[in-house]
Amino acid sequence: MAHPKRKHSNSRTGKRRSHHRLKKPTLASCKNCGEIKPPHSVCPNCGYYAGREVVRMED
Ligand SMILES: [Zn+2]
Repeated sequence: MAHPKRKHSNSRTGKRRSHHRLKKPTLASCKNCGEIKPPHSVCPNCGYYAGREVVRMED
């Protein structure tokens, strides 16, 4: 079986793990109510998308 000849250095492990960081979620604000929401999605606060109401919110 294939077997590593030498131990990985801490540096090498760290370099690999340098890509493991999670990126922050992208957020846009609603044009209608100003609430933050994911971009390209109907606003969960007012139900607006692209400047018009597409989902009726219950009161
Ligand atoms: Zn909204």
